[in-house]
Parts: sequence; structure tokens; C-alpha cells
Amino acid sequence: MLGMKRYGGRVPCPHCGSASAARSSRGVSPTYRETYLRCSNLECGWVGVASIIIERTVVQSASPNPRVALPVTATRRKAAGAPTPQPANDDQVLAPAEAL
Ligand SMILES: [Zn+2]
Repeated sequence: MLGMKRYGGRVPCPHCGSASAARSSRGVSPTYRETYLRCSNLECGWVGVASIIIERTVVQSASPNPRVALPVTATRRKAAGAPTPQPANDDQVLAPAEAL
């Protein structure tokens, strides 16, 4: 994936770019969770909140929650030439450098 950087399950700090790790999280709904992040760079010290939103299903659950209705995608991988789906919660899509 071009433009993607691996952080081993961590998120880059929006200020210094170092990996920030999840310290705790709070479930708001079955498909929305807030996660508290702390930058691993001691000279930076940033702490913030990120949101995790479950957007769609790739493989159906064997024990589905009747309160959850997610769109289903056919496969994990995008078919060649298929358009990239737009996140339902974003008004605009930023380039990766702007999003960080
Ligand atoms: Zn930082």
C-alpha cells in the first residue's frame, strides 16, 4: 500500500510523528469507541483521543448483535479498478501528509 506506514498497531503522533500507543479506551456504542493515546516520544509528551469507527462487515459474525446493522463488502481486497469507498463520517478526504 503506497503511502501507508506501519506502526505496529500504533498511531503516529500528530505533532512529532513518533508512535503513540493506546492507553485506555471507552466504548460509546457497538460501532464507536474512543481511545486515549500517549506519544512514545518523552520530549513531545502529547496525549489525545482518537476515534475507532466500525464501518462495514467483511465476514459475517456467527453470533450477530441485532442492534448492529453494518454494510457488507464482498471481499477484503479491492477489485482492480474499483473506486475507493468514501468514509461515511468524513466531509473531506485529506492527503495522508495532511491527515497526520
Ligand atoms: Zn509526539
